Amino acid sequence: MKLPSRSKAYMIPEYSLTGDLLSFLTCNLQYRYQNKGTLPPSKPVQRWFGEFIHGVMEEAFIQWKHNKTEFPWDWKEDIRPIEDLIDLRLQTRGLYPHDEDLFFSILNQPDNDLTIDDLNEHDHKKLASARAEKAINIWGKHLFPLIDSSELMIKGIRNMPQYDENRSRSNYYGINGVVDVLTSMKINKTLEQSNLDNYNNKIIEILKKDPQFQEKIKNTDEEDYEIIIDYKGMKRPPIEVNDPKSENKWESHKQQILTYSWLRSKQEDSKTIFAGIIFYLNELVPSKEDLMLIKDEMKNGLIDEETLEKYENDFNLIDKWQEDDKAPELSDDFKLGRSIRIINIDEDEIEKSLEKFDEVVYNIEESLIKEIKGCKIQDAWKAEADERTCTACDFKTFCKKNKNKPKEFKIP
Ligand code: SF4
Repeated sequence: MKLPSRSKAYMIPEYSLTGDLLSFLTCNLQYRYQNKGTLPPSKPVQRWFGEFIHGVMEEAFIQWKHNKTEFPWDWKEDIRPIEDLIDLRLQTRGLYPHDEDLFFSILNQPDNDLTIDDLNEHDHKKLASARAEKAINIWGKHLFPLIDSSELMIKGIRNMPQYDENRSRSNYYGINGVVDVLTSMKINKTLEQSNLDNYNNKIIEILKKDPQFQEKIKNTDEEDYEIIIDYKGMKRPPIEVNDPKSENKWESHKQQILTYSWLRSKQEDSKTIFAGIIFYLNELVPSKEDLMLIKDEMKNGLIDEETLEKYENDFNLIDKWQEDDKAPELSDDFKLGRSIRIINIDEDEIEKSLEKFDEVVYNIEESLIKEIKGCKIQDAWKAEADERTCTACDFKTFCKKNKNKPKEFKIP
């Protein structure tokens, strides 16, 4: 009797929207070293903060759902334990904050006898803590009552772009992501409650003023709809970029939300998705670096006239501000307005985003196949990024982009 041979292992490559799409677009070679290699970045601050603030908001929502603690939350009592928990979770994955960004995790120090009561104002004002507090007390208060599902895993499958049976690794690829979802039911319930309690929900207020969102509500027969939420641990990106080597983050974030909405629409219990909301949480407490970037954007004409006019005073303050000065006192309107972005969900735009995602997957697969066939890493992956990304990159000392650069010699 002839025994059947085991069939070849069938593997569908999986790509995530944040870990792969956005990361590959930032720099192909850095993505290869960070995501497909064995070298964890030493202190990827941007990545640490992004994951930290995401985790803090998710955990804060879970605690709010169970305890319904009234806002504003006390930093020491209510917020610091959440920071600690998320910090420890990230440490197990090799992600650590800079000392100036977050108080060290108390639970992780077996030899010291500090307790939460030893935390002081200085620790409270560390950047990550200050942002976590504002994010929870400013946006959490309005957002949490509207959330129907948090940390929803969304997955989908697509044909492998330019599939070639002799070359491609698989005829399909998977996309995944995690989102929070708001529903019209929760929005309507909060609206009723708002009328009773005379309280204005800022997110509902902003959606009411959004012409494209209102147009959708007007022109639909559907009673139920959904809104997809994402948090970004970064400042609001400029609408355009001058440097062709820089990724256009404004566009990539929109594509991310549109792809999420396609993925969500494939799930059985989903309703029509009317909009996406992105929170740029650095805007609530901008760092010096964020302020310098805003200054540059103003100088290079990357902020539109309407926005410049709307927040004229705040932009004037930033323009006059110098790096060694105390941070300017920016208005709450400015901080709130810049920290929220509504994305219109449109079928044609979704199609374009999916094509873009296919293109990125094709490029990643091409580089991977080159490497599998023996091409050197630095020849298989493109080393192209803006100056800021390269300056913070752990791989700059051996990156081919810097090979031909003259070495800087410092005179002692
Ligand atoms: S130094 Fe710049 S080009 Fe080279 S891997 Fe790092 S980010 Fe990419």
